Amino acid sequence: MFVINLFFLDKKVGCLYYFFVFIEQIPVRLGELEIFSYLVACPKTREGIVIDVAAECEKILNKIKQRDINLKYIVSTHGHPDHIAGNQEMKKLTGAKIVLHEADVAFFNTEEAKDVFKRLGLFCLPKADILVKDNDILEIGTLKINIIHTPGHTPGSICLYVDGNLFTGDTLFVGAVGRTDLPGGSFEQLLNSIKEKLLPLPDETIIWPGHGYEGQSSTLAREKQQNLYITDFILGSY
Ligand SMILES: [Zn+2]
Ligand SMILES: [Zn+2]
Repeated sequence: MFVINLFFLDKKVGCLYYFFVFIEQIPVRLGELEIFSYLVACPKTREGIVIDVAAECEKILNKIKQRDINLKYIVSTHGHPDHIAGNQEMKKLTGAKIVLHEADVAFFNTEEAKDVFKRLGLFCLPKADILVKDNDILEIGTLKINIIHTPGHTPGSICLYVDGNLFTGDTLFVGAVGRTDLPGGSFEQLLNSIKEKLLPLPDETIIWPGHGYEGQSSTLAREKQQNLYITDFILGSY
């Protein structure tokens, strides 16, 4: 409740800024797609990360400068082009290290995946400086960011949990879940990831999705009540 109250209070200034963690949702555009990039930082030390740099690096960099953040990591929730396309440019601009789950780097670098995505016109190879796996922790200042491996949208999709906030990439949206019809996707695996890894988190957890199709943010409690994929496919099957 504490977090939610503060979230609504600070929504006026377009960011979530309280004692424990600074969060800013930055909408960026790549072609037809709108993606949410996120700045997450430790208010005490100003160390931070940026999640899902799709495009508009200058816009994101301006926010980083405005907030006086020392960027440590560029984290992608998965290896699709709309979540990694700006990584190399952001690395050049800031010197921060690129972080991806090991399964997506492995998968997208197979000849088969390269071939399929090239034919789909989505060719963009994920490269990383640091490979992470389930339960790894990224430290920024006094914050600990938990890496949660949630395969299904892609083999190496991750969600990031920090202090009551969950960054869900294309695994879970407000009122929906990520598509699983692209190579490496599995609907069964996606539902299982949400059921086993996300639903056990506290109900008041704030959901920050990779795209805002049905809304910009939510809570786990609200999704458990209103997201048909959860109510019908996951909870309905209990
Ligand atoms: Zn995706
Ligand atoms: Zn996406």
